[in-house]
Amino acid sequence: MDCDNVVPMSGHFCPACGRPMRLALAIPRFGSFPELHTYDCRSCGVSLTEAAKETAKQTDKAIPRAPRT
Ligand SMILES: [Zn+2]
Repeated sequence: MDCDNVVPMSGHFCPACGRPMRLALAIPRFGSFPELHTYDCRSCGVSLTEAAKETAKQTDKAIPRAPRT
């Protein structure tokens, strides 16, 4: 038994080999375009870019102009 059974957060699988893909790049939302996530497969070098689903969990870390008092 190996320890490969932990599926990463993305739930994306390589279309070529079927292995879980890792999140390689996240492109912040810009204008009317959604946030994009690029996933890649280390085994075969396939990459995949998808619009990220908006989640309520996201914080506004990247946006400094959100003053809270
Ligand atoms: Zn692959």
